[in-house]
Amino acid sequence: MALPRPRKDSLELLNEVLEERKAGRNSRFFEGIADEWEDRVRAYIDSVGSPALVADWPEIDTHRTKFLNLYSGARDGSAQKSVLVEMRREHGLSLCPSCGEAGTPNTLDHYLPKDGFPHFSVTPLNLFPMCDACQLAKGTKTGDDDEPKFFLHPYFDVFVAERVLELSIEPPFESPNFQLGIRPGLAPDEEALVASHVRELDIAARYNKFLKGQHSRMLKLANQIRESGQDLRGSLETFAAMSGFVAENAWEHVYYRAVLDCDECIEFMRARD
Ligand SMILES: [Zn+2]
Repeated sequence: MALPRPRKDSLELLNEVLEERKAGRNSRFFEGIADEWEDRVRAYIDSVGSPALVADWPEIDTHRTKFLNLYSGARDGSAQKSVLVEMRREHGLSLCPSCGEAGTPNTLDHYLPKDGFPHFSVTPLNLFPMCDACQLAKGTKTGDDDEPKFFLHPYFDVFVAERVLELSIEPPFESPNFQLGIRPGLAPDEEALVASHVRELDIAARYNKFLKGQHSRMLKLANQIRESGQDLRGSLETFAAMSGFVAENAWEHVYYRAVLDCDECIEFMRARD
């Protein structure tokens, strides 16, 4: 899903951090690199965080911990601490923006990993909430020679505010085969990006586990709906609308849309004892 940009401006926070560094440890180091650091954060924003466009900064390799400490060792009262706490705990999300699975994402991910890009370790536009499963699958990957950008950027790839995933349901409908695909109509580069994102985060395998349980619950519910004389399709439309309010690519929403697109599946649910 697409996320609204962080409340804290990335360059403003950088300047506050630099100001605090003047009175702190490594003051001379940070003073020496201040202008270039600011240029690089600006370049990150201009390049929409794309690993294909954001250059490495090899000169700071031996100083990585100085940057990483700003993130991992952020002191109470420091400029970045309150921003990190807010981004980690007060996002109000009830699903992972990277995969769409329900639940409260409780880790912050660095879009460009902090190991390779320590100078973006406290850049709000490089940070966003993510679920543990996505973070584990993502690791320090960014892309490769063939596909320099594997992952959707939640602040910049705003086309994912619309539904980009599509599920097909194939019989037997008691225990269907689900195929997770990409919705037609995307631009070729968008489609390729969604494909690499889904592949590299191993989303289809996780999705299938969810779908088994979801579908079996839906079959039970369909029985109840039928017995109470309600309209199954109308009920499914309601469930789809409700889950779509969470996000277009929320797993539940993609599932209900798939059922609604499958007349045979709805007929099966209507006729099932
Ligand atoms: Zn996730």
